[in-house]
This record gives sequence, structure tokens and C-alpha cells, in this order.
Amino acid sequence: MPELPEVEALAGYLRERAVGRRVERVEVAAISALKTYDPPPSAVAGRTVTGAGRYGKFLDVRFDEGLHLVVHLARAGWLHYREAFPSAAPLRPGKGPIALRVRLDDGSGFDLTEAGTQKKLAAYLVTDPALVPGVGKLGPDALEADLATFGARLRSRRGQVKGVLTDQSVLAGIGNAYSDEILHAAKLSPFAITDRLTDDQLATLHAATRAVLGDAVRRSMGQRAAELKGEKRSGLKVHARKGLPCPVCGDLVREVSFADSSLQYCPTCQTGGKPLADRRLSRLVR
Ligand SMILES: [Zn+2]
Repeated sequence: MPELPEVEALAGYLRERAVGRRVERVEVAAISALKTYDPPPSAVAGRTVTGAGRYGKFLDVRFDEGLHLVVHLARAGWLHYREAFPSAAPLRPGKGPIALRVRLDDGSGFDLTEAGTQKKLAAYLVTDPALVPGVGKLGPDALEADLATFGARLRSRRGQVKGVLTDQSVLAGIGNAYSDEILHAAKLSPFAITDRLTDDQLATLHAATRAVLGDAVRRSMGQRAAELKGEKRSGLKVHARKGLPCPVCGDLVREVSFADSSLQYCPTCQTGGKPLADRRLSRLVR
């Protein structure tokens, strides 16, 4: 799932490649992916791409006269920039991975795609990004929040730090992968309770958030969209590395279920050497 660093890099790539180009046409292949109907996709034709940015994990493509294409890529969505399209024929609505295509006046453009059968990618054509459900409710940006804001936001929601860090209304931009990485860098248990964190722990967590996200953004910027996923994977220390040695201490990375997914952590670095109990599993056994 693309998180803050990948969406930032996708926006950076669009700024470099698409800004200044005029839109030929927007084609919608997955009707359910486009969540708005007014203005219609045809309203984008003839407009110029003026910018690209990000709200948390939402990508914002800006057109002149104040029109925005705001996209949430969800778990399996991605943006593919095409230097050229194989055919000039419009996309036909269907079951393929392409949800939406934007053709630009130099023959290039981009596809929003989504793998798998669960279709969660959401695109909104709006005059104001704050109209997008989810954008209006976002907390401060995880990369920009200073220590005072960061601490206040985390303490405002009592819960396991893993869950609170990924709550977009607390802080915007962190998902399952980077929360594992941030907690590992901060040497903190994913199950630590937010309102019991000491000032020192909060300061360490804040610094780790900045370092992990900042490093990921630096590594991702300038990468072509196609190479971003590999770049993300190569920088991970614990996430999706169950059973592999922790690059810091050599202990084996472990996994427990969390919410509707799972998390990975290093017992030596994060939980005093003790494995976390898998609540779902122990419930099952009992
Ligand atoms: Zn370790």
C-alpha cells in the first residue's frame, strides 16, 4: 500500500513530467472508482496540469481553474506513467486493472490501476480537496508535525501506539509498513499505550517518524513510478520481514496479527526480548 513517501514521490514525478501539459481526455474504465459525478470527467479535457501534491496518503493532481483529481490508492492501487499509450481507442469499462486514464497533449499520460478483486481505489473530481471525505478529517501531516503537535495528537487518542500512529485523523500519511519501521527505529513496542508514553519516548518516536519518513521520501524522489515499490521494499528493516534477521541486532523479526492484518517487530529491539502474544490466535486456541 502506498504511504506518505510513495505518494510524495508520485506527486513529485507528476510535477516533473505532467505539469504544463494540457489534458486531452480522461477515460474512466472502473465506474465505481470515480466517486463524484459533478463536475464530470469530460470537464478536465482542455485544462492544463498546474501541479501535484499530497494530503496524507491522498494524491492531488491540480488543473487550471481550480479543478482537482484527488486519488486514494488504497491497498492495491498505483499510478503508472506512460510515455505513450498502445492505442488511441478509449478504454472500455471492464474488469481489467486500469481504473482511470488521463491522456495528455504530448501523447503521454497516466493510468490509475488496481490489482486484485477487492476494488477500493477512490478518485474524486472536485473544486476543493476538502470536499473529499477523508481529506477533511485528516490530522496534521506526519512528516511536518513538530514535537508539540505530534505529542499532543498521539496523547489525544488512547490506544496501542501501532493503531494510533496509523489513524489518519490523528496524523496523516502513516500506514502499516512505515508504522512498523517507525516503532522499530524508536525501539518501542507496537502495543505500548499512547497516553502512558513518557516525554522521552514521545520525543524518540517523533524523531523516528521524521527520520524514517524523511529517508523514504529522499530515496523515493526522482524514482520513476515503476521503481518505487522496489525502493520501498529495499529500505524496510522489519515490515514484511518475518523470520529474517533484524539488521540492528540480528534477532529474528516476529509477526503478530493486528486489526485486519499483521505487524512485524523485533523482540530484542522493541519488547525487551519477549515475544508479543497473538491475541487472535490465543482466543482461537482457547
Ligand atoms: Zn533488533
